[in-house]
Amino acid sequence: MRLFSLEGRKALVTGANAGIGQAIAVALAEAGASVTLAGRTPATETLAMIPGATDLRLDFSDPMAAKDVFGSAGYDILVNNAGIIRRADSLDFSEDDWDAVMDVNLKSVFFTCQAFAHELAAKEKGGAIVNIASLLSFQGGIRVPSYTASKHGVAGLTKLLANEWASRGINVNAVAPGYIETNNTAALRADPDRSKAILDRIPAGRWGAPEDIAGSVVYLCSPAAAYVHGAILNVDGGWLAR
Ligand code: NAP
Repeated sequence: MRLFSLEGRKALVTGANAGIGQAIAVALAEAGASVTLAGRTPATETLAMIPGATDLRLDFSDPMAAKDVFGSAGYDILVNNAGIIRRADSLDFSEDDWDAVMDVNLKSVFFTCQAFAHELAAKEKGGAIVNIASLLSFQGGIRVPSYTASKHGVAGLTKLLANEWASRGINVNAVAPGYIETNNTAALRADPDRSKAILDRIPAGRWGAPEDIAGSVVYLCSPAAAYVHGAILNVDGGWLAR
């Protein structure tokens, strides 16, 4: 057994048309997995980067979107990466901005995990789930109340599911990215004051790239992490150590 190999494994990555999800899909494929990209818009660029990848239309604004996806498809790995953020002062924050973020970032994560685990249970086989958490799984942030609530929820859910499913051979873990240069953080990087304040606090002295996150996900899906359950691995240039 090669510790970090995913040869013969089949992975589904949500939100893989760009950003962190794209880098994760590419890295899983490089480690030997066959990869399905699941998202609401075509993952054209990612498909071109991964020979043999499959593209699947799923819109996680419907939290049950993945309920019929697993079936006989034979997935071993699920990476819940799709996520959105809405920014406004908490005094003005709307119910729509609350519900939209909670549905995609938390409710759909739970029901996608449930659908995946049902299939693993039916086949009496193990598997790996990696949820993409955030620094805001641990910290409060500002002007992103539903995002912070959803990512705290992802951390708690990861631990709960690990407790329930570890004995079934399902590894449930999370990766918490720091500040990564993607669409998700475009507004922060466009604000010179916020951008400088963030950079000044990162011990590594730079924002992260999507590729900085991908290796941790490969690790958590690999035989090397067989005894890792309920962990939330910070990949943040040292931010939380500060
Ligand atoms: P991104 O480039 O905006 O990627 C988000 C992905 O989620 C896109 O593929 C997007 O697809 C997909 N998505 C959004 N809504 C969806 C829906 N309703 N159904 C299906 N797919 C949907 O941002 P990113 O930074 O790579 O974010 C990836 C994950 O990392 C998110 O969970 C985010 O919260 C987390 N994260 C990011 C950072 C950071 O600094 N960037 C830090 C911590 C955590 P569309 O293109 O179709 O919208």
